[in-house]
Amino acid sequence: MTVRTRFAPSPTGFMHVGGVRTALFAWLVAKHADGEFILRIEDTDRSRHVEESDRHIIESLSWLGITADEGPARQSERLDMYKEWANKLVAAGRAYADPYSPEELDGFRQAAQAAKKPFLFREHRPADPPQWKGGLPLRFKSEPTAYEWQDAVLGELSAGPETVDDFILIKSDGYPTYNFAHIVDDHLMSISHVIRSQEFLPSVPKFLNLYEALGIDFPVLATLPYVMGPDGKKKLSKRDGAKDILDYKREGYLPEALISFLATLGWNDGTEQEIFTVDELISKFRLDRVQHSGAKFDEQRLLWVNGHFIRQKPPGELYELADGFWPASAMDADSGYKKAVLELVQERLKYLNELPGLTSFFFEEPNARDIKALFDNPVDKQLKNLDKAQLKQLLEAVKDSLEHSDFSQADIESRLNELLQKLNSKPGILFAAVRIAVTGAKASPQLFGTLAVLDKAKSLLRINQAIDALAA
Ligand code: GLU
Repeated sequence: MTVRTRFAPSPTGFMHVGGVRTALFAWLVAKHADGEFILRIEDTDRSRHVEESDRHIIESLSWLGITADEGPARQSERLDMYKEWANKLVAAGRAYADPYSPEELDGFRQAAQAAKKPFLFREHRPADPPQWKGGLPLRFKSEPTAYEWQDAVLGELSAGPETVDDFILIKSDGYPTYNFAHIVDDHLMSISHVIRSQEFLPSVPKFLNLYEALGIDFPVLATLPYVMGPDGKKKLSKRDGAKDILDYKREGYLPEALISFLATLGWNDGTEQEIFTVDELISKFRLDRVQHSGAKFDEQRLLWVNGHFIRQKPPGELYELADGFWPASAMDADSGYKKAVLELVQERLKYLNELPGLTSFFFEEPNARDIKALFDNPVDKQLKNLDKAQLKQLLEAVKDSLEHSDFSQADIESRLNELLQKLNSKPGILFAAVRIAVTGAKASPQLFGTLAVLDKAKSLLRINQAIDALAA
């Protein structure tokens, strides 16, 4: 049997990590088994359809490298097929035109509530339904059955006959419901594994009933636990700040980092390993190692994983990726200079959009007001005990020493360390003062490299300017 999985999103808005993780798990199951992965756009709910999201889904998956072997197929282009299968059910006496108005259905529901009974459509089947010619919804005539089935993630499951009820197959607008269309499609597309979110689990008994009525063997069913919001209490949703997946692209996250992060949202390989390459995931991923409870979405962890993948990048590749993320002031800068700057910050870069904040002082003069504010109120506690005259003295000593330097990183380092001894100062004082003078920033890449890349002229000029500012 060829393993064939699918991702079947409804185009109702942008994709966020929840949807993408479902796609990734389905893709990994297929690739692990050397099988096929199919993309199917479930666009039959015309009222919720968002035009842009079709393209968004395709772009998101393509950015992440979750490539489909077939598709995208669109359900809205397959209406004849659903009608054909619906007519089979009509012919077999397993579907009927639903003549009730929404108000009448509401009445039934309220009556059940008043009688403290669960509401079941099948208790209100019309005695003599009109012939179905479209126009009216077509409803499935279920046969209440108790089920036991195997879920590839959750294991043995069961449900009583009360969970099986009549449901709509084709709506009055002629479009099929998800409940019907996905079963027909999964069958016609020879899907071997249906891998989907937990929200569909309560509907499985009625799906099983429909498979039976259609004479279709049902595929392997796998239920993925929710991705939970950061508080771990609620399913992650757009309302709770789940971001458009392409925002991560815009902010300079690496696709391989997102893949590794998403794969471990609710899955592990049985070891402590936390970061995986795509190839490792393909060889290791198994549905029976997907956890049963919700997986908490932790943005800090994503940052950590992304930082890891950034550090792993060969500098040349990272430089290509950084295109478009530099501060505006870097526009005319020399590429050799930018490469040197990038290598310096690579160690601490968490995502590429941090580049302007971390590197702008390499391309433009730091703001004199920022420098003054930092000296007035230094983050480095030890600096607080020095008055302006003492700071000025320190910087003058630095200037005198660096004036004779060849400005290699090693020479700068040895000179400043020597000075540290000579002045009986501390890194938290001497180096902090130099950093403020030269960068005007609270934090910077390591100091000696920063000075070397910046070059002798710029570094000394800035130290001089800081001395002047402290004298003023
Ligand atoms: N269209 C459904 C959704 O977007 C797909 C569920 C499934 O994978 O069957 O949630």
